[in-house]
Amino acid sequence: MLISAKSIGICYRKKDRRIKALDGVEISLCGGELTVITGRSGSGKTTLINVLAGLLAPNEGQVYYDDTSIYNAGDKQLSSFRNKNIGYIPQGQSALANLTVMQNILLPAALAKENKQEFAEYLLGAVGLEKLKNAYPEELSGGELRRLAAARALINSPSVIFADEPTNDLDDDNASMMLKLLKAQSKRGAAVIIVTHDSTALDFADRIFHMSDGRIITKENEHENTLCRPLVS
Ligand code: ADP
Ligand code: MG
Repeated sequence: MLISAKSIGICYRKKDRRIKALDGVEISLCGGELTVITGRSGSGKTTLINVLAGLLAPNEGQVYYDDTSIYNAGDKQLSSFRNKNIGYIPQGQSALANLTVMQNILLPAALAKENKQEFAEYLLGAVGLEKLKNAYPEELSGGELRRLAAARALINSPSVIFADEPTNDLDDDNASMMLKLLKAQSKRGAAVIIVTHDSTALDFADRIFHMSDGRIITKENEHENTLCRPLVS
Protein backbone atom coordinates (compact mmCIF):
# COMPACT_ATOMS: atom_id res chain seq x y z
CA MET A 1 0.00 0.00 0.00
CA LEU A 2 1.30 3.42 -0.98
CA ILE A 3 -0.26 6.40 0.72
CA SER A 4 0.37 9.78 -0.79
CA ALA A 5 -0.85 13.17 0.25
CA LYS A 6 -0.70 15.99 -2.29
CA SER A 7 -0.76 19.70 -1.44
CA ILE A 8 -2.74 19.26 1.78
CA GLY A 9 -4.16 22.40 3.35
CA ILE A 10 -6.30 22.60 6.50
CA CYS A 11 -7.72 25.75 7.99
CA TYR A 12 -9.40 25.85 11.38
CA ARG A 13 -11.58 28.73 12.50
CA LYS A 14 -11.24 29.94 16.06
CA LYS A 15 -13.81 32.71 16.63
CA ASP A 16 -12.80 35.29 14.03
CA ARG A 17 -9.28 33.88 13.61
CA ARG A 18 -8.27 31.45 10.90
CA ILE A 19 -5.50 29.01 11.73
CA LYS A 20 -3.67 27.35 8.90
CA ALA A 21 -2.91 24.01 10.61
CA LEU A 22 -1.51 22.38 7.46
CA ASP A 23 -0.02 24.24 4.55
CA GLY A 24 0.97 22.55 1.30
CA VAL A 25 1.93 19.23 2.90
CA GLU A 26 3.29 16.57 0.56
CA ILE A 27 4.17 13.18 1.95
CA SER A 28 4.26 9.59 0.80
CA LEU A 29 4.27 6.55 3.03
CA CYS A 30 5.01 3.00 2.16
CA GLY A 31 4.24 -0.49 3.44
CA GLY A 32 7.16 -2.06 5.31
CA GLU A 33 8.41 1.26 6.65
CA LEU A 34 8.18 2.99 10.00
CA THR A 35 7.97 6.75 9.57
CA VAL A 36 8.37 9.12 12.50
CA ILE A 37 7.02 12.67 12.25
CA THR A 38 8.33 15.00 14.92
CA GLY A 39 7.51 18.59 15.76
CA ARG A 40 6.57 20.82 18.64
CA SER A 41 3.11 20.90 20.12
CA GLY A 42 0.80 22.79 17.75
CA SER A 43 2.91 22.12 14.64
CA GLY A 44 0.09 20.15 12.98
CA LYS A 45 1.07 16.51 13.65
CA THR A 46 -2.32 15.30 14.89
CA THR A 47 -4.12 17.19 12.15
CA LEU A 48 -1.87 15.56 9.55
CA ILE A 49 -2.47 12.00 10.70
CA ASN A 50 -6.20 12.65 10.97
CA VAL A 51 -6.16 13.75 7.33
CA LEU A 52 -4.02 10.76 6.29
CA ALA A 53 -6.23 8.33 8.24
CA GLY A 54 -9.41 9.45 6.50
CA LEU A 55 -10.83 11.19 9.58
CA LEU A 56 -10.58 14.80 8.47
CA ALA A 57 -11.20 15.92 4.90
CA PRO A 58 -8.66 18.56 3.89
CA ASN A 59 -9.71 21.98 2.57
CA GLU A 60 -7.09 21.61 -0.13
CA GLY A 61 -5.37 18.64 -1.69
CA GLN A 62 -5.98 14.92 -1.95
CA VAL A 63 -5.04 11.74 -0.08
CA TYR A 64 -4.50 8.61 -2.16
CA TYR A 65 -4.30 5.00 -0.99
CA ASP A 66 -2.65 3.44 -4.02
CA ASP A 67 -4.65 5.03 -6.82
CA THR A 68 -7.84 5.74 -4.88
CA SER A 69 -8.60 9.20 -3.57
CA ILE A 70 -10.14 8.34 -0.18
CA TYR A 71 -12.20 11.48 0.31
CA ASN A 72 -14.03 10.80 -2.93
CA ALA A 73 -15.48 7.64 -1.38
CA GLY A 74 -18.83 7.73 0.45
CA ASP A 75 -18.90 7.86 4.27
CA LYS A 76 -19.98 4.25 4.66
CA GLN A 77 -17.39 2.97 2.21
CA LEU A 78 -14.65 5.02 3.90
CA SER A 79 -15.62 3.78 7.40
CA SER A 80 -15.52 0.18 6.31
CA PHE A 81 -12.18 0.70 4.53
CA ARG A 82 -10.77 2.36 7.65
CA ASN A 83 -11.95 -0.41 9.96
CA LYS A 84 -10.33 -3.13 7.88
CA ASN A 85 -7.16 -1.41 6.74
CA ILE A 86 -6.24 1.32 9.19
CA GLY A 87 -5.21 1.03 12.83
CA TYR A 88 -5.27 4.29 14.76
CA ILE A 89 -3.83 4.86 18.22
CA PRO A 90 -5.23 8.26 19.22
CA GLN A 91 -3.58 10.77 21.50
CA GLY A 92 -6.48 10.82 23.97
CA GLN A 93 -8.59 8.21 25.69
CA SER A 94 -10.80 6.33 23.27
CA ALA A 95 -11.94 3.10 24.97
CA LEU A 96 -15.68 2.49 25.23
CA ALA A 97 -16.62 2.75 28.91
CA ASN A 98 -19.28 0.05 28.99
CA LEU A 99 -17.10 -2.62 27.35
CA THR A 100 -14.39 -4.64 29.07
CA VAL A 101 -10.75 -4.48 27.98
CA MET A 102 -11.20 -7.67 25.94
CA GLN A 103 -14.44 -6.44 24.37
CA ASN A 104 -12.79 -3.15 23.45
CA ILE A 105 -9.92 -4.97 21.73
CA LEU A 106 -12.35 -7.20 19.82
CA LEU A 107 -14.63 -4.37 18.69
CA PRO A 108 -12.97 -3.65 15.31
CA ALA A 109 -12.97 -7.41 14.57
CA ALA A 110 -16.67 -7.66 15.48
CA LEU A 111 -17.44 -4.75 13.12
CA ALA A 112 -15.58 -6.62 10.37
CA LYS A 113 -17.58 -9.76 11.34
CA GLU A 114 -14.44 -11.71 12.15
CA ASN A 115 -13.64 -13.97 15.07
CA LYS A 116 -10.28 -12.87 16.47
CA GLN A 117 -10.52 -14.21 20.02
CA GLU A 118 -7.20 -16.05 19.87
CA PHE A 119 -5.34 -13.11 18.33
CA ALA A 120 -6.90 -10.79 20.92
CA GLU A 121 -5.49 -13.02 23.69
CA TYR A 122 -2.09 -12.79 22.03
CA LEU A 123 -2.28 -8.99 21.76
CA LEU A 124 -3.46 -8.72 25.37
CA GLY A 125 -0.26 -10.52 26.40
CA ALA A 126 1.89 -8.48 24.02
CA VAL A 127 0.78 -5.23 25.66
CA GLY A 128 0.89 -6.74 29.17
CA LEU A 129 -2.79 -6.42 30.03
CA GLU A 130 -3.66 -10.11 30.63
CA LYS A 131 -4.68 -9.46 34.21
CA LEU A 132 -7.01 -6.66 33.18
CA LYS A 133 -8.83 -8.64 30.51
CA ASN A 134 -12.22 -8.33 32.22
CA ALA A 135 -11.70 -4.89 33.74
CA TYR A 136 -13.52 -1.79 32.51
CA PRO A 137 -11.69 1.27 31.17
CA GLU A 138 -12.46 3.35 34.28
CA GLU A 139 -10.32 0.89 36.28
CA LEU A 140 -7.26 1.46 34.04
CA SER A 141 -4.41 3.97 34.35
CA GLY A 142 -3.50 6.33 31.50
CA GLY A 143 -0.66 4.05 30.40
CA GLU A 144 -2.88 0.95 30.50
CA LEU A 145 -5.50 2.74 28.38
CA ARG A 146 -2.82 3.60 25.85
CA ARG A 147 -1.70 -0.04 25.66
CA LEU A 148 -5.35 -1.07 25.26
CA ALA A 149 -5.66 1.40 22.35
CA ALA A 150 -2.60 -0.18 20.72
CA ALA A 151 -4.00 -3.72 21.01
CA ARG A 152 -7.34 -2.57 19.60
CA ALA A 153 -5.61 -0.79 16.70
CA LEU A 154 -3.80 -4.01 15.74
CA ILE A 155 -6.63 -6.54 16.03
CA ASN A 156 -7.50 -6.47 12.33
CA SER A 157 -3.81 -6.68 11.30
CA PRO A 158 -4.16 -3.37 9.44
CA SER A 159 -1.93 -2.50 6.53
CA VAL A 160 -1.58 1.08 7.78
CA ILE A 161 -1.08 2.15 11.41
CA PHE A 162 -1.12 5.69 12.77
CA ALA A 163 0.06 6.30 16.32
CA ASP A 164 -0.34 9.73 17.91
CA GLU A 165 2.21 10.19 20.72
CA PRO A 166 2.05 6.43 21.48
CA THR A 167 4.60 6.57 24.29
CA ASN A 168 2.83 9.29 26.28
CA ASP A 169 1.91 8.11 29.80
CA LEU A 170 4.21 5.08 29.50
CA ASP A 171 7.19 4.19 31.67
CA ASP A 172 10.48 3.39 29.90
CA ASP A 173 9.84 -0.37 29.70
CA ASN A 174 6.36 0.03 28.29
CA ALA A 175 7.49 2.79 25.90
CA SER A 176 10.11 0.41 24.56
CA MET A 177 7.50 -2.39 24.30
CA MET A 178 5.19 -0.04 22.36
CA LEU A 179 7.88 1.02 19.89
CA LYS A 180 9.01 -2.59 19.37
CA LEU A 181 5.41 -3.67 18.78
CA LEU A 182 4.97 -0.93 16.17
CA LYS A 183 8.30 -1.79 14.55
CA ALA A 184 7.17 -5.43 14.29
CA GLN A 185 4.13 -4.23 12.35
CA SER A 186 6.33 -2.51 9.77
CA LYS A 187 8.44 -5.67 9.56
CA ARG A 188 5.33 -7.67 8.61
CA GLY A 189 4.74 -5.14 5.84
CA ALA A 190 2.47 -2.48 7.34
CA ALA A 191 3.04 1.23 6.82
CA VAL A 192 3.54 2.61 10.35
CA ILE A 193 3.39 6.33 11.06
CA ILE A 194 4.26 7.66 14.50
CA VAL A 195 3.87 11.33 15.38
CA THR A 196 5.66 12.29 18.54
CA HIS A 197 7.88 14.70 20.37
CA ASP A 198 9.60 11.71 22.07
CA SER A 199 13.04 11.40 20.49
CA THR A 200 13.48 7.73 21.49
CA ALA A 201 11.09 6.85 18.65
CA LEU A 202 13.71 8.10 16.19
CA ASP A 203 15.86 5.01 16.87
CA PHE A 204 13.12 2.87 15.32
CA ALA A 205 12.52 5.03 12.25
CA ASP A 206 13.17 4.14 8.63
CA ARG A 207 12.22 7.69 7.68
CA ILE A 208 11.97 10.91 9.68
CA PHE A 209 10.03 14.07 8.91
CA HIS A 210 10.01 17.24 10.96
CA MET A 211 7.05 19.61 11.07
CA SER A 212 6.82 23.27 11.96
CA ASP A 213 3.84 25.63 11.56
CA GLY A 214 1.85 23.18 9.48
CA ARG A 215 4.65 22.43 7.06
CA ILE A 216 7.08 19.56 6.66
CA ILE A 217 10.43 21.29 6.89
CA THR A 218 12.93 18.44 6.91
CA LYS A 219 12.85 14.97 5.48
CA GLU A 220 15.33 12.18 6.09
CA ASN A 221 15.57 9.16 3.82
CA GLU A 222 12.71 10.36 1.69
CA HIS A 223 12.40 8.62 -1.60
CA GLU A 224 9.89 8.41 -4.37
CA ASN A 225 8.20 5.18 -3.43
CA THR A 226 7.07 3.18 -6.34
CA LEU A 227 7.61 -0.24 -4.82
CA CYS A 228 5.90 -1.07 -1.55
CA ARG A 229 6.40 -4.33 0.24
CA PRO A 230 3.38 -6.63 0.29
CA LEU A 231 1.83 -7.58 3.63
CA VAL A 232 2.90 -10.88 5.15
CA SER A 233 -0.27 -12.53 6.42
P1 ADP B 1 0.13 18.94 17.20
O1 ADP B 1 -0.51 17.58 17.14
O2 ADP B 1 1.43 19.01 16.49
O3 ADP B 1 0.23 19.43 18.60
P2 ADP B 1 -2.37 19.89 16.07
O4 ADP B 1 -2.54 19.25 14.75
O5 ADP B 1 -3.16 19.34 17.20
O6 ADP B 1 -0.82 19.97 16.43
O7 ADP B 1 -2.75 21.44 15.94
C1 ADP B 1 -2.22 22.31 14.93
C2 ADP B 1 -2.82 23.69 15.10
O8 ADP B 1 -4.21 23.67 14.82
C3 ADP B 1 -2.69 24.27 16.51
O9 ADP B 1 -2.49 25.65 16.40
C4 ADP B 1 -4.03 23.96 17.14
O10 ADP B 1 -4.34 24.90 18.14
C5 ADP B 1 -4.97 24.08 15.96
N1 ADP B 1 -6.14 23.19 16.07
C6 ADP B 1 -6.12 21.85 16.16
N2 ADP B 1 -7.37 21.34 16.19
C7 ADP B 1 -8.21 22.39 16.14
C8 ADP B 1 -9.63 22.54 16.14
N3 ADP B 1 -10.44 21.46 16.18
N4 ADP B 1 -10.14 23.79 16.07
C9 ADP B 1 -9.34 24.87 15.99
N5 ADP B 1 -8.00 24.80 15.98
C10 ADP B 1 -7.42 23.60 16.05
MG1 MG C 1 -1.03 16.26 18.67
